[in-house]
Amino acid sequence: MAKLGNPKNTIEILNKYEFSFQKKFGQNFLVDTHVLDKIVRAADITKDDFILEIGPGIGTLTQYLCEHGKQVLAIEIDKNLIPVLEETLADYDNVEVINEDVLKLDLKKIIEERNGGNKIKVVANLPYYITTPIIMGLFESNLPIENIIVMVQKEVADRIQSGPGTKDYGSISVAVQYYAKPYIAANVPPNCFMPRPKVGSAVLCLTPHDNPPVQVKDDKLFFQIIRSAFNQRRKTLVNGLYNAGIINLTKEEISEAITRLDKPVNVRGEALTLEEFASLSNILSEKI
Ligand code: SAM
Repeated sequence: MAKLGNPKNTIEILNKYEFSFQKKFGQNFLVDTHVLDKIVRAADITKDDFILEIGPGIGTLTQYLCEHGKQVLAIEIDKNLIPVLEETLADYDNVEVINEDVLKLDLKKIIEERNGGNKIKVVANLPYYITTPIIMGLFESNLPIENIIVMVQKEVADRIQSGPGTKDYGSISVAVQYYAKPYIAANVPPNCFMPRPKVGSAVLCLTPHDNPPVQVKDDKLFFQIIRSAFNQRRKTLVNGLYNAGIINLTKEEISEAITRLDKPVNVRGEALTLEEFASLSNILSEKI
């Protein structure tokens, strides 16, 4: 089977199977070998690695992963791509394709069955419509992950790696940085995909922390506070938290918690660091 990753071979296989792109699945296939090389390099893939790929498409990135890694598990939602993948991955005996919606799978159980408790790498050109649930789902499911290397919308990558006081800083920045250290390995223009997306993309690397950078007593409350703090960006943090109705406290009680952070009572959520959100959530959890 010819290597994919260039427009000619991609078009050939798409025509052979009379494949039509499904917008609802966020299908933009990579057609640039330089980008594929960059992803594999950023993931630092070796022959010891078990790799989870989300959304293999026609198997372009999958071929690279099979060549460089030990074992690949690819999860693809679109049943029309399964016969295509059977052909494009026929030369590899170290790949398994599961035809499922990744958001509905018990990844912890599946990975445990296939790789014991050992660490895995996640490498994917993600469907952009579900980037956040996929990334947060990976962290929340408590999988043994060494690193995550994903192609995402450029704007989302910027938001994820932003810090307080910047316009890109938001709940996704705090939530992801709670679990991992983000780093943008490359920016990728629309002409590297077929069809071309309307937006720019970026290769985002996430390295999970060995030890959590902050201690949070109540995870659920911590995430609710982050969401409420950024939901109404123009409002003060006190009003944002009070209006969200997640905590049964008066405005005065919330203000008192904020002043214990050495912050003015009219501070906005976007000014707080991850550490300050963690402290605030611990103070509020004691008050509730
Ligand atoms: N990896 C291929 C590449 O780089 O050319 C395709 C990437 S394309 C951006 C995203 C892929 O994810 C598509 O093949 C799409 O069908 C698949 N996909 C979309 N939603 C999915 C879901 N919920 N679970 C699993 N795969 C999904």
